Amino acid sequence: MPTLIEHLSRSKTALLAELAQDVSDRQVLEAIANVPRERFLPQELRPYAYENRPLRIGHGQTISQPLIVAIMTQALALRGGEKLLEVGTGSGYQAALLSQLAAEVVSVERVPELAEQAGHVLAELGYANVSVHAAGETLGWPDEAPYDAIIVTAAAPRVPQELMEQLVMGGQMVIPVGSRDLQELVRAVRSPEGPALTNLGPCRFVPLLGPGAWSPATAH
Ligand code: SAH
Repeated sequence: MPTLIEHLSRSKTALLAELAQDVSDRQVLEAIANVPRERFLPQELRPYAYENRPLRIGHGQTISQPLIVAIMTQALALRGGEKLLEVGTGSGYQAALLSQLAAEVVSVERVPELAEQAGHVLAELGYANVSVHAAGETLGWPDEAPYDAIIVTAAAPRVPQELMEQLVMGGQMVIPVGSRDLQELVRAVRSPEGPALTNLGPCRFVPLLGPGAWSPATAH
């Protein structure tokens, strides 16, 4: 029987080979190689950390599938100097990846317990350029706006105007947009004439809830 560490190391190598078929950005793959996904999971799910699937993290939420995390991160085409907002911290895993690729990551989470837990893990692992906040009344985190880029890791009914306004002019947002069950991954670039949209392919996310998004009352 391999130890858990041996098992994780082998399954991580296999996952990276699988992701490399669809993701060409070396920096994104390197960040995935560097970040210990198991640390963002409950103890009993750690053996599955490098399977290419979403996993439950409690409070009805999930850590996204590694492939979709990689595709969304690649879509941002980060150059290293960006100030970035993540909406939907969840486990904190994607924020950890982003911290390797951007100058500053601000991440906001609707479930206070998840925000607190993610903040602890990120600090423990030494990701010093990430700050996690429990979401307030307004979608996103206007206090520290504007951002060069925004990534939304939950599904919205439309591209939220509140978030477009937190981008610099020319800044971009990657966000799943569509129905409760199925969405299209969309890149929206802020321009004076309104957002310029590109479709990046179908995807499936848990809903973005609250002001500017789905009503929590009809969530389930
Ligand atoms: N990026 C996460 C996965 C997020 S799952 C990771 O790497 O683990 C989506 C998260 O979005 C859930 O934790 C959910 O609670 C959160 N969420 C939903 N609506 C939100 C809102 N309006 N503002 C902030 N977070 C929200």
